[in-house]
Amino acid sequence: MRGVTPDGGLFVPAMFPMVEMSEISALHNKSYAERTADILKMYLEDFSSEEIAEIASSAYESGRFDDPSVAPLRKLDRSTWVMELFHGPTAAFKDVALQILPYLLRLAAKKNAEAGELTVLMATTGDTGKAAMEGFRDLQGTRCAVFYPRKGIGEVQRLQLETSEGSNIHAIAVDASFDEIQNHVRELLTSDTFSSKLAGKGCVLTSANSINFGRIAAQIVYYFSAYADLIASGEIVAGEQVNFVVPTGNFGNILAAYYAGNMGIPIHRLICASNRNKVLTDFFSSGIYSVHRTFFTTKSPSMDILFSSNLERLLYEAADRDGALVSAWMGQLKECGSFSVGEQRKEWLDGTFCSGCADDRETLKEIKDRFEQDHYLMDPHTAVASSVLRRYRQETSDDTPSIVVATASPYKFSEDVLFSIAGADAIKDRDAFGCASELERISGMKFPEQLRRLQELPVRQKAVCEINGMMDTVLEAL
Ligand SMILES: *Cc1c(COP(=O)(O)O)cnc(C)c1O
Repeated sequence: MRGVTPDGGLFVPAMFPMVEMSEISALHNKSYAERTADILKMYLEDFSSEEIAEIASSAYESGRFDDPSVAPLRKLDRSTWVMELFHGPTAAFKDVALQILPYLLRLAAKKNAEAGELTVLMATTGDTGKAAMEGFRDLQGTRCAVFYPRKGIGEVQRLQLETSEGSNIHAIAVDASFDEIQNHVRELLTSDTFSSKLAGKGCVLTSANSINFGRIAAQIVYYFSAYADLIASGEIVAGEQVNFVVPTGNFGNILAAYYAGNMGIPIHRLICASNRNKVLTDFFSSGIYSVHRTFFTTKSPSMDILFSSNLERLLYEAADRDGALVSAWMGQLKECGSFSVGEQRKEWLDGTFCSGCADDRETLKEIKDRFEQDHYLMDPHTAVASSVLRRYRQETSDDTPSIVVATASPYKFSEDVLFSIAGADAIKDRDAFGCASELERISGMKFPEQLRRLQELPVRQKAVCEINGMMDTVLEAL
């Protein structure tokens, strides 16, 4: 239930449970919910197998995903697959973890005999907050409130937030920038006045942000799932190594791949893909993490990040689980904006990780090339990964079967995707939905219902406030 440890660090598994290759192969006969239960029960020892199975079924088998396999694989070419993680209610990968996390939190609260309603508070630029609201929507005993900047978020994102359904969820527009809102949410989360007022309303605060271990645990599952599917379809033999290429921001998704490797998935390389904000590319190539750089806004906004919070968990393994050393690095990052892990640790990282980046021009070109060569539509985040894989192969001649992790539906970024495959004329005079219809016509790939519906849904979330009114507004909503 706690995001961070009392001394400000992150929780990590005390040890990594090993899964035998025969058990991995056997996953192929199981549903995604069953695969989830098999993996999660190795970590969540306070929960019974029955409890975990029931939770996994609620999350993945109640029709919230528009593909029953939740994380289907598509073959692009002889040695490349795409793992589609965007079949959930918000059409992006955070759904996979945020559909199950609320159930896990609720059960944890019950076991801890927490008295009040579990309450999550978040600042969002759209994507994560919406995924959290969908996860908590109408889940008894929980509440979820998200704040977002009134100006400066995308049209689709704004519609997704404003049309949110569920009696226990609240989206509040704030007249301030995302950073101001984020800072104020952090203040509220540690404010005694606020928590006692919340307690008066029967609410207890918890966190669902990307450093919550429950999200990482849920993300480990799909790496097992993909590997089992490749064995089952005869594309690889059990035990054969694969690469995963992951479009990376906060380092949560790729960290889960690394954990899956520690548990028995045979991984040759984990390829960390960044956009123009290439702080991680530079880290993996030099061993130096430095935020002394310009921040760019790009076509892959969910990767526009300079502080990758989950990297700390990998650093802990790189440091041979020497917490004091990680603390020292984190202290240097806070004070001086950079730290170096040294030659020996860098070599250790090189054993599994490599990295690359793609700017917007390369990203849009990759969308076009993949569409023309493989008739596959990619969103800009996925295209960053695909572009990095292409260059990696040219430079290394590594022919290992590779899985590109697809983190968002191309229809979430319909204007950029249509522009890249059909040019400037195609997007002229079209809004996001017009572009989506045109994309559907050209590609023959279905515009997901959960995005199409946004045009028709009524606006339900109307609360607006100033930065200083956030506490009162949320208390009133809750
Ligand atoms: C959050 C997000 C990412 C980055 O994932 P991390 O786990 O933060 O590295 C990539 N693509 C999309 C579409 C996302 O929403």
